Amino acid sequence: MTGAPPNHDPLNGKPLHVGQLNLPSTESFREAFDGLFDRRFFANHGPLERQLDRELAQRFGVRHAIGVVNATVALMLTLRALDLKGEVIVPAFTFPATVQSVSWAGLKPVFCDVDPDSQTLTAQTVAPLIGPATAAIMGVHVWGRACDPIGLQELSRRHGLKLLFDAAHAVGAGFRGRPIGGFGDAEIFSFHATKILNGVEGGCITTDDDELAARLRKMRSFHEADGSTPLFRMNAKMSEAQAAMALLGLRDLDGLIEQNRRRYALYLGHLDGIPGIRFIDYAGDEASNYQYIVLSIDPPVAGLSRDMMLERLRSRQILARRYFHPGMHRTLPYSADSVPHLPVTDWLCDTLIQLPTSQQVSDRDIATICSTIRDAVMTSRDAAKESA
Ligand SMILES: *Cc1c(COP(=O)(O)O)cnc(C)c1O
Repeated sequence: MTGAPPNHDPLNGKPLHVGQLNLPSTESFREAFDGLFDRRFFANHGPLERQLDRELAQRFGVRHAIGVVNATVALMLTLRALDLKGEVIVPAFTFPATVQSVSWAGLKPVFCDVDPDSQTLTAQTVAPLIGPATAAIMGVHVWGRACDPIGLQELSRRHGLKLLFDAAHAVGAGFRGRPIGGFGDAEIFSFHATKILNGVEGGCITTDDDELAARLRKMRSFHEADGSTPLFRMNAKMSEAQAAMALLGLRDLDGLIEQNRRRYALYLGHLDGIPGIRFIDYAGDEASNYQYIVLSIDPPVAGLSRDMMLERLRSRQILARRYFHPGMHRTLPYSADSVPHLPVTDWLCDTLIQLPTSQQVSDRDIATICSTIRDAVMTSRDAAKESA
């Protein structure tokens, strides 16, 4: 024996998942929770939740950050607060919550295709879908990549539409030197355990609109009986325990981004030059949080399909994921009447793979994952040559 085996080494049979957790140290967690018990303030927007709202607003460079129990509810609440009727243009290439929140707010999602490079909506993909019933556009900063914020702001202003961004992936990301958080009428972040900022569950809405912020602060709580205009309210409150976790994560955020960036660079280096494998590229105007390691597999060149690659990885306990699969336009209830033609979305849903990254993924794990991918491509290409 030469000592204990390294943690989570796929060769030792421990599975490596996508979406592992960024956790604070046990000591800082204990300290934060001791404070909570000392104060005996657990809910109803106590001191920690208010502190989190202040720190987030500062970090995102916006006037208001409004903490909410999770991002799905935050999306629903924002759509209701804007008092919209009719249709909301959304991507189908997204996590289900984006689209489900539109339905829950009593609005109709209209699916829009995405740009093949940015994998997000753009002013060009959205413009043809704008009609008399369109009330809003909801872009998604997929993988933390800015969803054409300048182009969509210009387009929505020209048509008198509201513009929201599902920024669930985008804590710590930026565009042209500005943090994500200040674009459109409002942006919605998630602090789910698998996101870069882990509040176990949680989310927030950011906006520069004072009036919208005041309305959201009332709507998120059924408690305030202040005699003001009746609003459509619910219990969307973030607990002090969630805020405590999120504050710890916020303290570590720059370090987490830096570690993510280092792992991203390692992946990039190991995967360089493998035929048919394309890494998503955070170039140009974007500042990334590097929370997502995503690549596309071009079957004719790589010699195998995305799903075959997934099998190869899974056989070595590397639990890579298809994201997003299937596209929301192909899921019920949305697909019941008809399925819109979204060729780029379908292509992404068929070719993308998300790989494990996080504190728990070691440099050695990354080397193993990448050599598995390289071997899979090389053996498939050799087999194809032999049979040709
Ligand atoms: C995670 C996620 C959500 C939902 O966030 P919750 O906080 O879990 O409700 C919404 N949209 C996208 C794109 C997500 O990835």
